This record gives sequence, C-alpha cells and structure tokens, in this order.
Amino acid sequence: MTIAAYRAEILAVPEDPLVAGPAAIRHHRDGLLVVEDGLVIACGDHDALATRFADIAVERLDGLIVPGFVDTHIHYPQTDRIASHGEQLLHWLERHIYPAEAAFADRGHAGATAAFFLDELLRNGTTTALVFATVHAHSVDALFEAALLRGMRIVSGKVLMDQGPPNLRDTVADGRADTEALIGRWRGRGRLGYAVTPRFALTSSDAQLEDAGRLVAAHPDVLMHTHIAENRGECDAVAARFTAAIDYLDVYDRFGLVGPRSVFAHGIHLDDRAMGRMAAAGAGIAFCPTSNLFLGSGLFDLALADAHGVKIGIGTDIGAGTSFSILHTLGEAYKIGQLRGHALDPFRALYLATAGGARTLNLGDRIGGLLPGQEADFVLLDPAATPLLARRTRGASLAERLFALQVLGDDRAVAATWVAGRRVGSTPTPLGTRLE
Ligand SMILES: [Zn+2]
Repeated sequence: MTIAAYRAEILAVPEDPLVAGPAAIRHHRDGLLVVEDGLVIACGDHDALATRFADIAVERLDGLIVPGFVDTHIHYPQTDRIASHGEQLLHWLERHIYPAEAAFADRGHAGATAAFFLDELLRNGTTTALVFATVHAHSVDALFEAALLRGMRIVSGKVLMDQGPPNLRDTVADGRADTEALIGRWRGRGRLGYAVTPRFALTSSDAQLEDAGRLVAAHPDVLMHTHIAENRGECDAVAARFTAAIDYLDVYDRFGLVGPRSVFAHGIHLDDRAMGRMAAAGAGIAFCPTSNLFLGSGLFDLALADAHGVKIGIGTDIGAGTSFSILHTLGEAYKIGQLRGHALDPFRALYLATAGGARTLNLGDRIGGLLPGQEADFVLLDPAATPLLARRTRGASLAERLFALQVLGDDRAVAATWVAGRRVGSTPTPLGTRLE
C-alpha cells in the first residue's frame, strides 16, 4: 500500500459548467490531494483535510494541479509527418500520410515510434488518449506494450481500410480476424482499451463497414473510433458513393456504427439533424482545432453541438494537428470559437480537455475529475513557466491565469505529470518542491 499527499493549488472541473453552472468548478487555493495505490482518496482544502491525514508526509508543490489531459483523437503513426506542407485532407493523406503509415509494416519502427509518442504525450500532460494505429495489427501491439510499461490509459485499434491504397489494404476477413485477436489478446490488461477503427467511410467497403458494426455489437466493452465530415471534398465523395444515406452520419448509422460507444473525429460539416441524432445516440465528437485550421478543413460549430448536448472532447489529431499540447490546442479552440461568434470559457475548456474528454471515451467514472475513487492522473502546471507567462499571470485571477495558460502555454508549462499516482516525465523536480 502506497499513500502520498500533495499540497498545492488544485483545480478540477468534473462536471460540464454549461449544465452544472459555477458549481462545476472545484478550486482549492491551498489544496490537498491524497493518493493511495494509484487512486484519489481525497481532494479538497488543505485545512479541512490536514487532521484526517496528519500522519502522512505531505509534498508541497508550487503550481496548479489539474487532472491529466485526455486527447480524444490522435494518430501515433503520423508523429513523424507533423508539419508537412501543403494540400487539404485527401491529397495530404495520399502524399504524406499513407507513405508514413506503410513504414509501420516494420514492427521495430512501430515500437520506436510508439515509445517516443507516449513520452511526448506525458511531457505535455496527456495521460489518456484515443489513438489511431495503422492497418497492421502489430502497430497496436507495439503501442499497447509501450503504454503498459508507462501505466497509461490508452484506447486504440487496428485500422480497417480494405479500400485503402494497395500497400495499406486489409480484407474484410483479415480485418475481422485481426480485430478479434487483438481484443482477445489485450482485454483486461493494464489500463488499455480497444476501439474498432474503420478509418472513414471512403476507405472501407460496405461489407467491411457492416462487419465493423457487428464487431462493435459483439464486444460491449469496446469503442468505435472513426472520422466524419472533416473536409468538403471528402463529404462530396461520401455523398456520391452512399446515395441512399440522408447525410454523412447516416452512412455510419446504417452500418450500426452510431451509438453511445462511438467517437467521431471532426464533425465540422454536420447539420442540425446530424447533431441531433449524434446526441440522441449518445455518441461523441473529438474537436480538433489545430488540425482543422492546418488542413483548412473548416470551423467546428461547438455552439451547435452544445445546443443538442453532444458529448465533446478535445483532440490534437497529430499529424494534421500541429501540437501535442492540449493547452495550446485549447487556445486554438478559443480562436475558432471567436470566428464562430462565441468565446469559449477557460473553465469549460478545461472541462472539455479532462472530464468531458473522459465522458466522450466512456471513462467519466474513472478519470478526469480528481474525484475520490478516480484514478490519480494529474498534472502540475507552472503559470510562470516562461517570462511572458510569469508577467501575464502575476497577481491575476484564477480565470485569467487559466486562460493565459491556454493561450500562451504548451509543454513548457507542464512541470510534472503523474500517471495512476506515479510521477513520470522527463522534467526534473520543479523549483520550490520540498517535503514538509
Ligand atoms: Zn484523424
């Protein structure tokens, strides 16, 4: 049994402020977080908890403790293609991404990339992610092995794409067999989860999409992860192929792929009907602002999704996304909101990046809110990490400091990351940390 206690300023937003109002914000200026065997056992004001935990050594930390970030959409095999110039989605895939993914036929390359990728997530304070692998089953093994070593909560799956380019193509039968084998091999191990992962509507045959629906139905513990309505050209091609469908979401619906375990990346070009159906089905959307801007895909309508009560998480969507940092990604989400005519509140933004993302991945009971009984994934943010941040946040209110961290912050503002109560990451002990 290991028990540890941390005294610092603590902020968590375990409920959606849009629904719960200001009560959603849990802020302890002088807080105490107590962790036992990887779980939070108490989180609150230091003075209220000090007597109860009087016999436990308390580590004092300078900075702001928040829950570990949840990245609801990212591609680990695209790590090396971040910042690839030119082209919108479909051309960018052909020119930059498919060649990079073909290299994952080499298991060693997959393992080395997975290790770098996960360390980069942790360095940025991301402790949970829903991750695209490649069409190769061993790309999932490589990622899961590396995640198991690090104790991270990672959900992933072998990509189904029997209509992909010739060197990145599976078959309906192989896709099903590989998926079943991976689910069997990894079920119940560490903090890992599986997602049935058709790349998107255009890269699978009708038979494979139908099969994906059967796999999701057959395994009640898995998620379904795919892309939807990212790019106008993609939407036109989908409409041209699936002439019987009402809209893009209905394509997936017809194959049994829209339900409470479904996570769709982007959803930029979805109308009122589709958002309503998304909400009614309990499905979620990964909002990926840096990627949407980088590929010129469009401006996600968060207000429309909110009006319907759709579950929303934040995704970096590396390699079309331009940063592993969820803080930086929230700054870009704010700018997209401004172009859409509304200003994303910094506390709501933190919710989307933590408990909201957890809810989108059906993990809301386990992570995201620093609530007693939840897994102890958390991050120490340094609001004075750079000279500019220090200057901007000195004497500022909590809301101002949080917003400054989202607009000016990135990996430099992540002083340390804890996964299931264990401190990780490459950053040395922050200045001012001491044992009491
Ligand atoms: Zn993506």
